Amino acid sequence: MARIVTINNVKGGVAKTTTATNLAAGLARRGKRVLLIDSDPQANASSNLYPGLRAEKTIKDLFQGTPITEIISPSVETGLEIIPSCLAFSTIELELAAQLARETVLKRLLKPIEGNYDIILIDTQPSVGVIPINALCAADEVIIPVHEAYALDAMSQMVNVILQVKQALNPDLVIGGILLTMYDTRTTLAKEIRERLLNKFGAILFETTIPRNIRLAECPTHKKSIFEYAPESAGAIAYQKLTEEVMKRWGMIQ
Ligand code: ADP
Ligand code: MG
Repeated sequence: MARIVTINNVKGGVAKTTTATNLAAGLARRGKRVLLIDSDPQANASSNLYPGLRAEKTIKDLFQGTPITEIISPSVETGLEIIPSCLAFSTIELELAAQLARETVLKRLLKPIEGNYDIILIDTQPSVGVIPINALCAADEVIIPVHEAYALDAMSQMVNVILQVKQALNPDLVIGGILLTMYDTRTTLAKEIRERLLNKFGAILFETTIPRNIRLAECPTHKKSIFEYAPESAGAIAYQKLTEEVMKRWGMIQ
């Protein structure tokens, strides 16, 4: 059965999509069977890694009854498959409002293909709406990228969201990792924030931090993962290190 991992933070612009796409690419490069699900109507992960045309099937069709096997597509990254999103997916919030057990729709939709992957990664939008809650209900664990500047504030909000989801809907959900992004190891403030997160969350905090790196911001324009676009960059080295750290945590390597 696949390990299902949601990349989530109530805040935007914290590198959720950058982390989802490059971690998915990193794991696929290590020979893992990986499915990346874009659940954000902004569809940034899709525009990064999905080669298809706009007319093709998306997560919206999945929620409206198209079998999941007709929606999964190859991505631009070898070995990585993707369920793309689209702006119109945001209307699903309204359709779900009238549905019973609306928070667990995605969980049920993933059942038929769970056995086909080692890892399913879900990218989310920055909100606590019914779509990201679906992503948290479907997941075994959540990885939380936190922007250095808002890390402490974001984490206290996230702990509340996760607690509520655990109590009401998905008791097994755990925080799989907290990832400091756009992190400048040289500043005293950055060190202090890392120290405080470490005190509060201990080993859940990834040892890997992601530095600010212009190559990471350029990848989407070139429709490539950081490993294809700039394999020697500080961004590629950091996401490679994260991939290894995650695989160790999951017992996939020693
Ligand atoms: P989110 O999905 O949380 O909204 P994104 O992954 O889209 O965040 O990142 C927000 C912006 O910051 C994007 O333009 C992205 O390319 C850029 N970005 C992400 N990580 C880095 C980084 N480590 N260094 C520089 N720019 C980054
Ligand atoms: Mg995003």
